[in-house]
Amino acid sequence: MEKNQTTERYTLADIENWSAVAGDLDPPIRLGIFGDPIAHSLSPQMQNAALRACGMEMQYARFHIRASELRSALLFLRKLGFVGINLTVPHKIAAFIQIDEADESATRTGAINTIRVRDEKLIGSTTDGDGFLRAIRTEFSIDLRDLRVMIIGAGGGTGRAIAWQCALENCERLVLVNRTLAKASKLADTLGPFFSGARVLGPAARLEAIALDETALRAQLADIDLIVNATPLGMNPSDPAPIPERLIAPHHIVFDCIYGSSRTALLRATEAAGARGANGLSMLLYQGARSFSIWFNRDAPIEAMRAAL
Ligand code: NAP
Repeated sequence: MEKNQTTERYTLADIENWSAVAGDLDPPIRLGIFGDPIAHSLSPQMQNAALRACGMEMQYARFHIRASELRSALLFLRKLGFVGINLTVPHKIAAFIQIDEADESATRTGAINTIRVRDEKLIGSTTDGDGFLRAIRTEFSIDLRDLRVMIIGAGGGTGRAIAWQCALENCERLVLVNRTLAKASKLADTLGPFFSGARVLGPAARLEAIALDETALRAQLADIDLIVNATPLGMNPSDPAPIPERLIAPHHIVFDCIYGSSRTALLRATEAAGARGANGLSMLLYQGARSFSIWFNRDAPIEAMRAAL
């Protein structure tokens, strides 16, 4: 363990005064995660384990950055000597328009969860889609391409990345659900060409966008295998499930992107319905491993990262 290992929270005020606040830390902070809320994030313990396993003399820290502070934080980030950062709720979409370059994954989704700093430029990527794909394989021993998928929260940064991954994998069927329907409809227009071929037997359309409404959900769920929660509902233990619990049936498999020590209402309802479910811990692992590879251009020490979680 490093001498000054830290998991404390830094703020925009700290970033503005970075050399005085963190200049003496050994090893220095060169990586981190920006989010609001951020206290729950397990990325620091996972990424610090990866850095130790690879003998890299640097630390990864958490930064409580509010939506209104993101622009300033990213401006300062260019000058701090960082390798990169992760972005989590609510920054993934807002950050996309504030970076200097976007890789292919970021350009297609319009959202980023990883920034690499090179020559004071910010280069954005998203690793959520890749992390999701590997998590579904690990948790359920099944490939996305064989599934009829419903994404709740398809208008957010994570939901978009997952939707794109489903399209690239050519999954059987995709239903995009969002509280603000217009965002899901826009995404469906973009993804339309991936779903133009007939694959599913029966009348159900391969790609649909619907509002977060019980009647609309009920009409879809008989033709869905995998339900994904990509909303922040569940981050607080008292949060309700993002869809009415009575709609979950034994044939469903449920993936909740939320991870944490207490089980979400959605996963409790999944178990009560006799269906299979998993939380977002494996997605956290795989998206984090991919971020590590982007920062250091090498394979991540995945077993050390898994052990840290
Ligand atoms: P985001 O960009 O803020 O997106 C939020 C999405 O959820 C939007 O579609 C939004 O709908 C919807 N939403 C928000 N509050 C809602 C509510 N009360 N009821 C219904 N829908 C609501 O967030 P994000 O960055 O994508 O993150 C989403 C969640 O995924 C977070 O909890 C995050 O921790 C988790 N996550 C986990 C992993 C992992 O590795 N396990 C990776 C990424 C993200 P509108 O468009 O209508 O506002």
